[in-house]
Amino acid sequence: MKVLNLINGVLSPASSSQWLDLTNPSEGKTYGHLPRSGSADVELAVSAANSAFKSWAATPAGERAACMSRLADLVRDNADMLAEAESRDNGKPVSLAGTVDIPRAEKNLRFYASAIQHFASESHVMEGVALNYTLRKPLGVVACISPWNLPLYLFTWKVAPALVSGNCVVAKPSEITPVTAYLLSTWVKEAGFPDGVFNIIHGLGSEVGDALIRHPKVTAISFTGGTATGAHIASVTAPKFKKLSLELGGKNAAIIFDDCDFDDALATTLRSSFANQGQICLCGSRILVEKSLYPRFRDALVAKAKKMKVGDPMDPSTKMGAVVSKDHRDKILASIELAKTEGGKILCGGEKTSPEGLPHLQNGYYVQPTIIEGLSPNCRVNQEEIFGPVVTIQPFENEEEALEMANNSEYGLAATVWTNDLKQAHRVSSELETGIVWVNCWLLRDLRTPFGGVKNSGVGREGGFEALQFFTEPQNVCIKL
Ligand code: NDP
Repeated sequence: MKVLNLINGVLSPASSSQWLDLTNPSEGKTYGHLPRSGSADVELAVSAANSAFKSWAATPAGERAACMSRLADLVRDNADMLAEAESRDNGKPVSLAGTVDIPRAEKNLRFYASAIQHFASESHVMEGVALNYTLRKPLGVVACISPWNLPLYLFTWKVAPALVSGNCVVAKPSEITPVTAYLLSTWVKEAGFPDGVFNIIHGLGSEVGDALIRHPKVTAISFTGGTATGAHIASVTAPKFKKLSLELGGKNAAIIFDDCDFDDALATTLRSSFANQGQICLCGSRILVEKSLYPRFRDALVAKAKKMKVGDPMDPSTKMGAVVSKDHRDKILASIELAKTEGGKILCGGEKTSPEGLPHLQNGYYVQPTIIEGLSPNCRVNQEEIFGPVVTIQPFENEEEALEMANNSEYGLAATVWTNDLKQAHRVSSELETGIVWVNCWLLRDLRTPFGGVKNSGVGREGGFEALQFFTEPQNVCIKL
């Protein structure tokens, strides 16, 4: 497998002719290469995007949307192949890629193909005096940088609103999982995008990513990834007054009151803890349970987690696959060791593992679903993002304490609340310092709603018209009557 850059409509290797390894985390084996691009490739891509901008910005929104819809059709037509590619590249179960990642990628493209045709700007009338109207102009060349956990899903979530609103894009997927973005790039011309409008470059974040954010012609950066990388990008680009949208890490709380629907809360908490091997920024990694329900809930959750077995990600019946890389597995295992030194009791899991009876997967990167209790809310394991199949569980006395524990975090992405008391649900939700709250559900997404975090979880919102607003500059025109 050879991944290539897409620059000015041409698929090509890095201008340095250097390559990086592609690894299949389920086997721990190299299976291909991707270009190790650098600033020369950024220069070519930004220059192509800049040349294409005037004409693309002047293209009617309906025509831009038609290109996006055709790209969505190509994703749909190749969905099975994309799901397998995502699973091989990331280690996630093919069943998850086939039911969540790829359908959502298609939906993202279709959603923004439609949304741009309903996007309107404001007018303000000063009766008898003047008429103000606000134009929404595309920004120019924008950078879209996405992470490895939901590769095509998060990549399309950024490039779709950027492109339909008339910008030219230079996108950089994670070097760890570039394959599905590459496959998408092979259909960009067929979908009808003019050369230079949509460029995709591959390589290391610290090299090609850094060159991209620093390029003077890049006017805006939409970034999803870790908080430390987000802080670095902000420190480089804020003094240049580039527009920034940062979707960063999380340390999300699941608050479970004793009047909840027990079975639903249990099944969903299992999913919100371990889906995608816990590598979703929205996973609930701190489970807080009302004291009266605590022993029953804890024991039931542990019993269910013990039954979860890692398997071959390519087997359609597998629910738990590999984590994304050896480095990441080792980081997760180090967090478990840290939990032990901080006084945590491992209720289940806690070790690396591999699927039983499958010799070709014995060198893959697998971690057992792990639940830890007995840690203080302030300890590092309860404060730092682990981003793996590891959760902590803690009892709380009452609503006040639950809120105090949930908000005791530098992060503020999402929370879940489980209760049948509607007033309590509203009270707690409105006091939570997060950008998103789910009540009696998790990961239920309406693409029209604002998505993003507060505190160290980010700046700005994606989703719905928020993303179209981000990717356009308002200009007020005041006409004297
Ligand atoms: P990273 O921050 O390491 O990387 C994210 C992207 O940024 C990658 O494409 C990476 O490239 C690139 N990058 C790295 N350094 C730079 C740089 N100096 N300049 C420009 N780009 C750079 O995050 P991960 O890929 O490890 O993703 C996991 C993180 O993402 C977790 O913290 C998770 O919480 C967060 N996340 C947040 C979400 C949200 O919506 N809030 C959703 C999903 C994940 P490369 O990989 O090639 O190094």
